[in-house]
Amino acid sequence: MNADIRALAELLADAENAVVLTGAGISTESGIPDFRSAGGLWETYDPMKVASMNTFMDDPSLFWRFHRPRIDMLGSVEPNAAHRAVAALQQRGIVKALITQNIDRLHSRAGSDPVIEVHGSLDRGYCLRCSTAVSMDELCARADSAEDGVPRCTCGFQMKSGVVLFGEQMPMEAIEAAYDAAERADVMLVIGSSLQVTPVSQLPGVVLSRGGRLAILTESETDYDHRCTVRIHEKAGPTMDAVLEALGD
Ligand SMILES: [Zn+2]
Repeated sequence: MNADIRALAELLADAENAVVLTGAGISTESGIPDFRSAGGLWETYDPMKVASMNTFMDDPSLFWRFHRPRIDMLGSVEPNAAHRAVAALQQRGIVKALITQNIDRLHSRAGSDPVIEVHGSLDRGYCLRCSTAVSMDELCARADSAEDGVPRCTCGFQMKSGVVLFGEQMPMEAIEAAYDAAERADVMLVIGSSLQVTPVSQLPGVVLSRGGRLAILTESETDYDHRCTVRIHEKAGPTMDAVLEALGD
């Protein structure tokens, strides 16, 4: 067995309070493009502009022309081996908390519960004016039956999904839960995040400052590479499968 995989398995097995933090890289193996890499919708639209609160407020039709096909795309993909391995580690009590930057709900669909979703998620549709919530199916049905493609609340205001937009406030409850988990963690395993976006970029520093250890399984470089106990530049799915196998029953 690969020495890095054995080291990661031992780190997790010895941890009292292991926390997993995931980013876009864990879902690319399910076929979801990272928006920082080329391809698909992101080449047609500038995500920073179209997935923003300004566009949602000023040009909801443009916003929904971009957002609606993305909901279908995210609904058509499946969790991969890495999502399933994280769920298994959580169910076995080895991983005590899971924090994700992803909005795709693949962790939940793989069986993880709870999931701390710091960038929101495609869980429901919401009205920002009167706080009415509807299911995603209902949100999509309203978008599809509207002439301009914009789902509307019964109060008349345009609705959005639970995904946090650029320029929108982060979900405070999830952010607090993420910091709490990092403060308690003696091991943090980062999977598929380049750790560039706040608040997630801060969390490994919180763990290290309290004497915890860091493992990073991300293909790209991160600013924490020189401060981790285990550093693996491989694909998440096969690596996490091997880690599970190394941990045995
Ligand atoms: Zn409303």
